[in-house]
Amino acid sequence: MKACVIRGARDLAVEERAAPEPSASEVVIRLGAGGICGSDLHYFAEGGVGDFKLREPMILGHEAAGVVARIGPSVRSVKVGDRVAVNPNQPCGACPQCLAGRRNLCRNVRFFGSAARFPHVNGVFAELFLAPEENCHAIPDGLSFRAAACAEPLAVAMHAVAQAGSVHGRAVFIVGSGPIGVLVAAAARLAGATRVCVSDLIDEPLAIARAMGATETINARNEAARIVALAENPGDFDVVCEASGSPAGLATALGIVAPGGTIVQIGILPSGQTAAPLNRIISREIRLVGTFRFDREYAQAVAALASGAVDVSPLLTHEFTFDALQRAFSVAADRRTGMKVSLRPA
Ligand SMILES: [Zn+2]
Ligand SMILES: [Zn+2]
Repeated sequence: MKACVIRGARDLAVEERAAPEPSASEVVIRLGAGGICGSDLHYFAEGGVGDFKLREPMILGHEAAGVVARIGPSVRSVKVGDRVAVNPNQPCGACPQCLAGRRNLCRNVRFFGSAARFPHVNGVFAELFLAPEENCHAIPDGLSFRAAACAEPLAVAMHAVAQAGSVHGRAVFIVGSGPIGVLVAAAARLAGATRVCVSDLIDEPLAIARAMGATETINARNEAARIVALAENPGDFDVVCEASGSPAGLATALGIVAPGGTIVQIGILPSGQTAAPLNRIISREIRLVGTFRFDREYAQAVAALASGAVDVSPLLTHEFTFDALQRAFSVAADRRTGMKVSLRPA
């Protein structure tokens, strides 16, 4: 079978690999669509993401939906031919974080297409891949594989919004209009936020943010005065979600969040140290909280996509086959044209 293997920065190619064999409780999935994520782009551009570096070849990808192709002998909840979205997160269930109900912080987690542990865990950009039975979530016939694969980033967005506490009836500002930023806009609206403002440095992704539920947008380059005005009199936004992963984005968040408000850091900041005007955390009693992946939110995301409560179609800008792997990654990295770029084997 064909698989998209990354060996280091700018070293990504389709290779032939042996088809996987399921253990008793595993399922073989035939990939219907895989979404290229910001973290995949970091592996491609830099050979790592945040503080996780590639140390051996790895099949990339963690956003997937497809069809059950084979099942192990003890699998009961899915059958061959079922259409499923696949949760890439496999917490151990036994470490202190898992036992405390924070399974997204599992010390021993296996996560598809991640170099966080060694040996690395292979990902889903392959004709066939293995998943534990409990990670497979049935999807309705009317939901495309491309949309269903967005359950993963939508779950990230839902967990990020939950980290802010209740946003019902509140105003939420989102710095960065990438795929995660626009899904945070959708998740915030779904959670009852009445005002959702998204900022970015270019216009094209902001149009998608509006289509995904943002009530207003700011081009922080052309309309810098609006950001300055918010920072001169902060109070409009109790919650700011930083989804750009840039030190400047974090500085913006610290500048505009209301006194007593919450900043949720979602974007992965550059490796190493980041400078930011942190004294504001003290004088304004700002809560600065991190958010990492998701847990139960994956099932909630599948349900929201299946019911139509969240429609990701404005986000799905491109689809490529494995033959066009390099093109897929260059389009996904171009923020003016690509938003969520999907891959399928053929
Ligand atoms: Zn992702
Ligand atoms: Zn654990």
